[in-house]
Parts: sequence; structure tokens; C-alpha cells
Amino acid sequence: MPNDPTESYDVAVIGAGVIGAAIARELARYQLRVVLIEATADVGTGTSKANTAILHTGFDAKPGTLEARLVRRGHALLSEYGTAAGIPIERTGALLIAWDAEQLAALPAIAAAAARNGYAATRRVTTAELYATEPHLGAGALGALAIPDEHIICPFTTPLAFATQAVASGVALRLSSPVESITRNDTGVHLLQTPRATFASRYVINAAGLYADRIDRWFGHETFSVTPRRGELLVFDKLARPLVSHILLQVPTKTSKGVLISPTVFGNVMLGPTAEDIPDKTATASTAAGIAHLRERGQRIMPALIDEEVTAIYVGLRAATEHSDYQIAFYPDQHYVCVGGIRSTGLSASMAIAEYVVAGLADAGLQLEERDDFQNVTMQNIGEAFARPYQCAEMIAANPDYGCIMCHCERVTRGEILAATRALIPARNLDGVRRRTRALLGRCQGFYCSAAITSFVAEATGQSVDALLGLDP
Ligand SMILES: Cc1cc2nc3c(=O)[nH]c(=O)nc-3n(C[C@H](O)[C@H](O)[C@H](O)COP(=O)(O)OP(=O)(O)OC[C@H]3O[C@@H](n4cnc5c(N)ncnc54)[C@H](O)[C@@H]3O)c2cc1C
Repeated sequence: MPNDPTESYDVAVIGAGVIGAAIARELARYQLRVVLIEATADVGTGTSKANTAILHTGFDAKPGTLEARLVRRGHALLSEYGTAAGIPIERTGALLIAWDAEQLAALPAIAAAAARNGYAATRRVTTAELYATEPHLGAGALGALAIPDEHIICPFTTPLAFATQAVASGVALRLSSPVESITRNDTGVHLLQTPRATFASRYVINAAGLYADRIDRWFGHETFSVTPRRGELLVFDKLARPLVSHILLQVPTKTSKGVLISPTVFGNVMLGPTAEDIPDKTATASTAAGIAHLRERGQRIMPALIDEEVTAIYVGLRAATEHSDYQIAFYPDQHYVCVGGIRSTGLSASMAIAEYVVAGLADAGLQLEERDDFQNVTMQNIGEAFARPYQCAEMIAANPDYGCIMCHCERVTRGEILAATRALIPARNLDGVRRRTRALLGRCQGFYCSAAITSFVAEATGQSVDALLGLDP
């Protein structure tokens, strides 16, 4: 009887993006039965896999907002956690560049707002210093504000680390389980219907990203609607990496932080994102207009970059709403929390949002008793700034698979791919392997290695190649 409650929990978290995974991890500290329910086949496959991957300080958030507070706190939490958990993270710092007199005049106010947000380390940079630090910058920059604590971080490893720690500490993860409806029985327990099972839970947390408004309606609320804000990005080849030292930011507008240039933790350079409100929550294809806009902006910021080869183009959808702040709301009577509208800064704020939500649940009456077996995790490093297995003689001596490179562009070994398929939250498809190892993400985009990797992963996961490629009838 697939629709009978087969599993019973204290808290159900809907959505295993970076926000839901962070909340599940935070709940895993306590003696609670928690389930993390995800519609797709893996953790971190929504907006969380396609962003600009910057750990923001929150310097430019609107002072006094919940977002400003949580990004600031999230920055402190994630910069510490990232290092401890093996998440690739680098403190490159950022330069907010003024390209005209109006933008130059705006810098003191931006620094003052940063201080009001609790970030006082910004510093004015003269034109001469700017060009000395970033010699490939296009002509015409008038000066900048340095934000030394902006980091670049791995967007793939972060939600996986949270979810892995949650699962290691007893949280149940249910993938390929879209929640299709929620009812409440006469004892007040929520029944979450999915195609495979019905989950019974005392509390529900809605962290469904682009679909948070839909789920919120099921609880009778109509306080926000999500209008996806599409962001397109270009990833340049690793040969472009020496061109850029910092994250190069633009003076933000009302709707967007503007097009930026940033190094990535994988050793590439990224240009983007665009910001375009669209009606379709699934429109993740790139557009000719978006790419043209990025190239035009990039030409101004760093002409030399535009001559470099593009390795990949990708698109992310921000969960923008009609409000400028996060839409986190507690409904104690309903035993329900909505965590919506986490649009441009969710990666940075994720751990603070989790802390805030769990504190709110405690205020709403959820008993929190700490458990003594909360597990630590160390993720497999996929960042360029830290030693990778192919560089580690000890690892290779212990396991020769770490000396056998399968993806030559990204130098990913057979040992790493195998480990990804055997992880606590294993990769079950090629996209999962990409996000856990970087395999197939390099300049050839799998042209040379995908056949070998596909058959290897098929064997390692006990699937046919056709099933793995989605070709099964
Ligand atoms: C272009 C772009 C650039 C960005 N840059 C940055 C940046 O540099 N720094 C930063 O901090 N943030 C950045 N962000 C924002 C950040 O990526 C998001 O705030 C964050 O990923 C939101 O995470 P989430 O978990 O709320 O959403 P998601 O990652 O979308 O997760 C929601 C999950 O819920 C699941 N789901 C939905 N409905 C259901 C259902 N009915 N049942 C079960 N599961 C369901 C989905 O499948 C999905 O996996 C950027 C975003 C974009 C688009």
C-alpha cells in the first residue's frame, strides 16, 4: 500500500538544496527523527548547483534586513565549516569597481552600509593600486572598494557536505520523492504524499526553492510568489586564470549585483550572471541575448578575458519574489515553517538560515535535546588550491586507482570516481559524478573520456550504460 504512512518523523524538510540540506544538518544535532525529502535523484540539483559560488560577506546587503543579518552570520559559519569539512574555499577578496563618476561617488555610502551590516573591513583602492593588482582590467576604471573577506567556494560540495553530515548523524534522505500534496490528520500530524510513500511528520519545513510558493499555498498562505530571475554565466578555460586575482564586482543595481568576473575554485574564470525575470521555473537553457550581453560587459571589464576560450555556459534561476527580503515565516499553530525567497545569497547564508530556523522551531515548541553522536565529515577535495589525489604519493601507494587518471582535463582519477559512487550519498548518475569529482567538467566537456567514464560508472553502480544515460525504454 504505497500511500499509507510507512515512515514517521518529527520534522520533514522538503527540498535538498543548500538550504534544506543545511537545515537537516542543523536538526541532526538533536534527538529528533528527521527526513530530508527531495524531488530529484540527488542533493543540490536545483538553483544550488548553478550559481556564482561566492561566499559573500554581506557588505552590500540592505542594512536592517533579515538577509543582511543572516548573510553576515552565514559568512562566519561557512568560512569556518568549509575549511573543517573539506569544502574547497579560497579567500580571494573582492574589488567593487567604479567605472564612472557616479559609481565612484557611491563607494563611501556602500562602505558605510557595509559597516552598518557589521562589516568594517572595506577599504578604498586608488586607480593606480587597482591596475597594479589587476593589470588586465579594461581601461577607464576610476577606483574601487576592496572587500578582503569575500571568498570563492565550491557550490557542489557545500550542500553535499551538509547532507552527508546529516545522514551520517541519523537523518533519513529520500531522493526521487516529489511531495505532491500535504494534509493534516486529526491528531495534527502532517501527511506528505509522494509517488513512492506517504511521510508522516509533526513539523514541516518548506525549503523547496523555486517551488516554495506552491507548497506555501497548500498551507493556506499567499504572501509571496516566486518569479525566477534567470542568471546566465560563461566559464572560461583554465588558461585564463592568471588574468584575474580577485572577484571583480560591479556597483549593484536594484535587481542585481551586476555582471562580475570571478576565479572559481576549479581554476577557471567565470563571467556573469545576467538578471532577467521570466515566467518559466524550468527555463535553464542559455540564450543568445544573454551571452551577447555578457560578452559586451566582459569586453569592458576585462577585454583580454573575452579572447580566451569558453569551456562551458550555464544558467541558474534565482527564487526572486515581489519582496526584497527572504521570506522565512514561522506558523507555530500549523507546525510549519516556510523558507522561501532565498534568491541571490542562499549559499552564503545557508548555515545561518538553518540556525535561525531551528531556533524558531524551538520557540514554536519543538523539544531540542542534543545528541552526543553528531558526526563530523571530511569531503573529498575537488578544489584546485588544495592537494588532489593524483598529486598525493601516499594515497596512490595505498590505492593505485588514485594514480589512474580518467578525466585528463580535470585530472580526476578512477579512485575518486569510484569513491563518489560509494559515498554515503552516492553518485547514481553522471551529473552526480561531475559534482562530486569534476570529471567531465573540463575543457573537452567529456569528449575524450565520457565513454570510458560512463561504462565505469555503470559498472560501479550496477546499472546498464543505457539506464545510466536515460536511454532505457
Ligand atoms: C545565477 C545565480 C548566482 C548566484 N550566486 C550566488 C553566490 O555567488 N553566492 C550565494 O550565496 N548565493 C548565490 N546565489 C543564490 C543561491 O544559489 C540560492 O540562494 C540557493 O542555491 C538557494 O538554495 P535552495 O536550497 O533554497 O534552492 P534549490 O537549490 O533550488 O533547492 C530546492 C530543492 O527543492 C526541491 N523541491 C522543490 N519542490 C519539491 C517538492 N515538491 N518535493 C520535494 N522536493 C522539492 C528541488 O528539487 C530542489 O532540489 C545565486 C543564484 C543564482 C541563480
